Amino acid sequence: MTPGPVAVVGGGIIGLSIATELLNRGADVTVYDPAPEGADGAWHVAAGMLAPGGESAFEYPHLTRLLEAGYQLWPPFVAGLGDVGYDRAGTLSLALTADDVAEAAREWKHQKLTPLTGSQVRDLETAISPRVRAGAFASAEHQVDPRKVMAALRASLTGRLVTRTVSDLSELDADVIVVAAGHRTGALTGLPIRPVKGQVLRLRGEPGLLRHVLHGAADGRHVYLVPRADGEVVVGATQEERADRMPTAGGVHDLLRAALDLVPGLADHELTEVTVGHRPGTPDNAPILGFLDDDRRVVVAAGHFRNGILLAPITARLIADLVLTGSADPIIDAFAPGRFR
Ligand SMILES: Cc1cc2nc3c(=O)[nH]c(=O)nc-3n(C[C@H](O)[C@H](O)[C@H](O)COP(=O)(O)OP(=O)(O)OC[C@H]3O[C@@H](n4cnc5c(N)ncnc54)[C@H](O)[C@@H]3O)c2cc1C
Repeated sequence: MTPGPVAVVGGGIIGLSIATELLNRGADVTVYDPAPEGADGAWHVAAGMLAPGGESAFEYPHLTRLLEAGYQLWPPFVAGLGDVGYDRAGTLSLALTADDVAEAAREWKHQKLTPLTGSQVRDLETAISPRVRAGAFASAEHQVDPRKVMAALRASLTGRLVTRTVSDLSELDADVIVVAAGHRTGALTGLPIRPVKGQVLRLRGEPGLLRHVLHGAADGRHVYLVPRADGEVVVGATQEERADRMPTAGGVHDLLRAALDLVPGLADHELTEVTVGHRPGTPDNAPILGFLDDDRRVVVAAGHFRNGILLAPITARLIADLVLTGSADPIIDAFAPGRFR
């Protein structure tokens, strides 16, 4: 079944990935977004870590399965996009103090990573502070530059992007409407999706100071450092239950302090950006994917929280399958909007 016109509400990384997949499979698709260059999108601040094992999924096996399946789709996804900074050097997890080591050891055990001494860590990455006590190497945690991904997706959708806010889904006369408006999806659908604020810094210096993504704790302050090939280092991120767009002195201080504790050489880098974005959070930290109602006209693809970059390719495939055939791989079933209605 090939539907008539498909409208995608939201041109963030989820909306554009879905639209590109639909277009490649022959659909007549239009994307609506008031700020396609990124002023309101979480993708614009996101670091781009592709880390299926870490973070949020400890207690939710369905989400773990989705993250792993999504991770597997990145190589073919990237192959269609060109150079988007996809980097497989891997991630070094670091712990500065004895307390930081005690906390990190639980996560390393959970992820079945072998602990490294401070000097083993510095053998892999010489810029790491001599004060760092221990670490672990996660070779399977990769990174991509979300801004480059978005530029490539936008190019593939030339002529399909309309600069417009959709205030009510009844404004659209498409056969199928995909709602992928990030944290603003709640206002359009009534689903429980909330903004979770994150402050992120971008530093710039000579390329080559760091090779791996670093993820660490320094005196209880958590930080990640994502080095790009051109000398940019993304430093993130706070996590705050707030909707404002204001960078704060405390947020910037905590990120810089932890970053410089772990990698003192960053002190000479230029501070080029301080940005704020909002992760689309849900009550169970898992995305909401599927038909909104029994009439099957509205499809939701939102609530990806901390993993929307990682999950973009698999979301695109599952949602395109739903739109074009009416069904998708059963892995999607655990994420249906109905669990909140
Ligand atoms: C600080 C931070 C760091 C992150 N780091 C990572 C990471 O390392 N790895 C990872 O996988 N994920 C990361 N994420 C999460 C990731 O950025 C999000 O999950 C992802 O961007 C969600 O994609 P989205 O397209 O649903 O929403 P967004 O990227 O927020 O895009 C939503 C789009 O919808 C548009 N829109 C909103 N309302 C309307 C409307 N009414 N009409 C039309 N358009 C509308 C907006 O303009 C925007 O362009 C991070 C997020 C933050 C905030």
